[in-house]
Amino acid sequence: MARRKAKRDPFVCPRCGTRVEEPLKTWTLVSPFPDRKGRITVTVMGSFRCPNCGYSWRAVVKKIKTEAAPPQEEQGEREEGEIIEIDLSELDDLE
Ligand SMILES: [Zn+2]
Repeated sequence: MARRKAKRDPFVCPRCGTRVEEPLKTWTLVSPFPDRKGRITVTVMGSFRCPNCGYSWRAVVKKIKTEAAPPQEEQGEREEGEIIEIDLSELDDLE
């Protein structure tokens, strides 16, 4: 069961290594700038306290990327729907 992770577990006490079930409280930090794809990163922070040694720390619980509304809609490239043209002279030839 001793699986080592490359990333540090935010729930584990940095002092004694006790794993905390859940943070005392969490809050979110919203990145003020979207990334190149226009997504906003929401960081969920947590404050923890170790029940074993009493050490308290803050850590990033998780990061969420959300689809942000596009800053501006591009005009002039809207699809108007397909226009079907029927050549009536062809229909006349059938009779
Ligand atoms: Zn501890």
